[in-house]
Amino acid sequence: MNKGISARLRPLRRYVNSTIDSFLVNDSSNLVVPARNMILISLATALAESLKYNMVSIGVNYSDAGIFPDCGQAFINKMFDAVLYSSQITLTARLAAASKAEIIELGKEVGIPFGMTWSCYDPQKDGGTCGVCLPCIDREENGL
Ligand SMILES: [Zn+2]
Repeated sequence: MNKGISARLRPLRRYVNSTIDSFLVNDSSNLVVPARNMILISLATALAESLKYNMVSIGVNYSDAGIFPDCGQAFINKMFDAVLYSSQITLTARLAAASKAEIIELGKEVGIPFGMTWSCYDPQKDGGTCGVCLPCIDREENGL
């Protein structure tokens, strides 16, 4: 099994204007990290091309598209073109039209071990989740 690649992006917080660290869960406009998915797709594309992979997949979903503009199909379509134009990589977003509830149901059908998945924005020193950030609340609300 591929162990994946981990990159520390925390230093970007020094330069990026976002209050995502304050966990103002009632004001989603403050949770937007400017150009987050463009940054992540660009990094993943560069890594994939360097490592001779041919595909990058991003897990955006329909439920987030209304809140976060870089989760919508229009953004993905533009990034698909940009990635294809600048590399040999194909960008996919196979869950972009699905809601979080639909993705969870699909995951249960195919046996995804949700206990081994991670969404928290602020992992605790003991390795646990914070329980108060938007992804933690989303998971709780969706029964995960
Ligand atoms: Zn959390």
